[in-house]
Amino acid sequence: MQQNQLFEKTRWQLACWYAGVMGVILSICGFGVYEAIAHAHKITLDRELESVAGTIHDSLETVLEEPGILAPDLRRFLPNLCIATEKCATEPRNPHLHLVGAIAQGDYYLRLVNLSGNLVALAGIHPPGLSTQSIPGKWQTVVDGNGIRYHQISVTLHTQDYRDWGYLQLGRSLAEWEHYLSFIKLSLIFGLPLALLLVGFASWWLAGLAMQPIYQSYQQIQQFTADAAHELRTPLAAVRATVESTLRITQLNEVEIRETLNSIHRQNHRLSQLVKDLLWLSRMDRQNRAKEKKLCCLNDIISDVQEELAALAIAANLTLIKNINVAQPLTIVADEEQLYRLVMNLVSNAIQYSHSGGEVTLILEKSASDAIIQIQDTGIGISPEEQTRIFDRFYRVNSDRSRSTGGAGLGLAIAEAIVKNHNGQIQLQSQLAKGSIFTIRLPLAKTPSPFGNKIKPAKI
Ligand code: ADP
Repeated sequence: MQQNQLFEKTRWQLACWYAGVMGVILSICGFGVYEAIAHAHKITLDRELESVAGTIHDSLETVLEEPGILAPDLRRFLPNLCIATEKCATEPRNPHLHLVGAIAQGDYYLRLVNLSGNLVALAGIHPPGLSTQSIPGKWQTVVDGNGIRYHQISVTLHTQDYRDWGYLQLGRSLAEWEHYLSFIKLSLIFGLPLALLLVGFASWWLAGLAMQPIYQSYQQIQQFTADAAHELRTPLAAVRATVESTLRITQLNEVEIRETLNSIHRQNHRLSQLVKDLLWLSRMDRQNRAKEKKLCCLNDIISDVQEELAALAIAANLTLIKNINVAQPLTIVADEEQLYRLVMNLVSNAIQYSHSGGEVTLILEKSASDAIIQIQDTGIGISPEEQTRIFDRFYRVNSDRSRSTGGAGLGLAIAEAIVKNHNGQIQLQSQLAKGSIFTIRLPLAKTPSPFGNKIKPAKI
């Protein structure tokens, strides 16, 4: 595949498309995962803030008396509370008090703001340079003097007699959250190109795999076209040579004219046969001719082929024997014309490639589910290396030897195509100088034959 530029280019294009599409999908997935993680963490943070703020708010409202004034009982809940106007020493945290414990655990701060928006008291961490003014709205994100961002919830506080006291603001540093998110972002930024590189290699490999069968059939078509052109060129060249040499003769007598016409006629016949075979094979490739199948009797086909080729066998000084080893006529669902052609091709090959005085035997028998046709000969045989290629189109064991028989190397290819079209199998056993056995197995018809022995296969 590497030598062929078209396939190489297509492979690159396919690989780029695979990698591109996978890259987009991976990027979208990565972005989605990042957003989901960020969202989940934000929700958890908000819930935590809301729950802690709610608990503190409920406890404080039980002790607040005058709007904006800190009640002495407040220290029961918030012992670390620092009055805004006083300088606060960092007091030891009391882990036994639940409310303080919640604030002391994380990066929380708590601020009590009066109705005018001025800070009255604070607890927890003391972010430097944080605005003491209240910001309207329940949720806010504020930034301290060091640039650290805090997420903050504001809840209105009421006195015991339900007058507005001011606001409770509970905030938490976003540093840890942002640090975690930037770690994920970095992992995605560096992980994605690496993943894309792997996807690129995988795409290249997959594109190669996907192209392999296409390339193989492309090569077969190329080979077929070259072989077909070669086969067509030979008779055409022969005709041209005959015509040119005849034209050079100034005075032609009748015998010479007849010889020339006979030669042209022979080559024309060869050409027509070749084109017919090619058309037939291409039709077999394009469609399964299942519609033309019907019940046909193999006994009759075997007998007809033997009858048809008896004269040829006698001319070649060969004995053509028919051996039918079934008590009842064997029927299969098949295209009669094709079956006839199959047996004809194999028997005529057996006659062609046998020495004078040899024997060709046509055997018909059956197994539990198949009809078995065997064509045995005592001919020249086929070497084991050639046996694997013998069914290829235009393949001839020895082209010179075969050309003298007039064959183009399509007979066995047609035979194999017919067997495949009937869901059967064809096998070859052969030994050089001893002979060959072609065995065809075809599935038997399920229903009994309505024809008996009377069917007459059509001749081709
Ligand atoms: P062709 O038309 O040339 O005979 P086939 O496809 O029928 O083409 O056969 C391909 C080749 O297989 C032939 O060239 C021949 O050499 C070899 N072959 C086929 N049948 C036999 C056989 N019975 N014995 C020996 N060789 C055979």
